[in-house]
Amino acid sequence: MTVRLRAHHLLCLLTYVGKGYSAAFTANYDKVVKRLGEGEAILIVSGPDDICAPMLDEPEPHCLREGAAERDGLAARDVGALLGRPLRAGDRLVLDASSLTRMRKAFSSGLTRQACSGCEWSDLCGAVARSGFQDTRL
Ligand code: SF4
Repeated sequence: MTVRLRAHHLLCLLTYVGKGYSAAFTANYDKVVKRLGEGEAILIVSGPDDICAPMLDEPEPHCLREGAAERDGLAARDVGALLGRPLRAGDRLVLDASSLTRMRKAFSSGLTRQACSGCEWSDLCGAVARSGFQDTRL
C-alpha cells in the first residue's frame, strides 16, 4: 500500500499538530500520519489525496480549486530541489528521519514556504516551526 499525497501536503505534514478543518478531517489525518510513521511509502498524486478525502463531500471543496494545484506545483519544485529528485504525479518516496529533518530545516528557514503563501493555516504552521516542531504528530 502507499499513502497518496499531493505535493503541498509534504509541507503540511511537517507541522501537523492535530488541528484541521473538522473532527473527521483530523481523525483521517491522524491515520495517514500513523501509516507514514510506520514507514509506508508515498505516492505523489495530482489533485485530492488521502488527506483531502474527508473534505470531498463538501459542496465546493477547496481541494479542487486552482489555488491548491498551484501550491502543489510550488511545493513539488521546492521540496524536489531540496531532496534532489523530481516530485511528479506517479513518483514514490519514503520519508525517513533524515529527509524529515532536512525538510523541517528548510521549512523553518523559509526555503520551501512559497507554497504556503495565502494559506489560512500559515500563522499556525509558522508558530509550530518556531517551536522546533513541538507536538507534531509525524
Ligand atoms: S501554511 Fe498551509 S500549505 Fe503551508 S504547511 Fe501550513 S497548512 Fe500546509
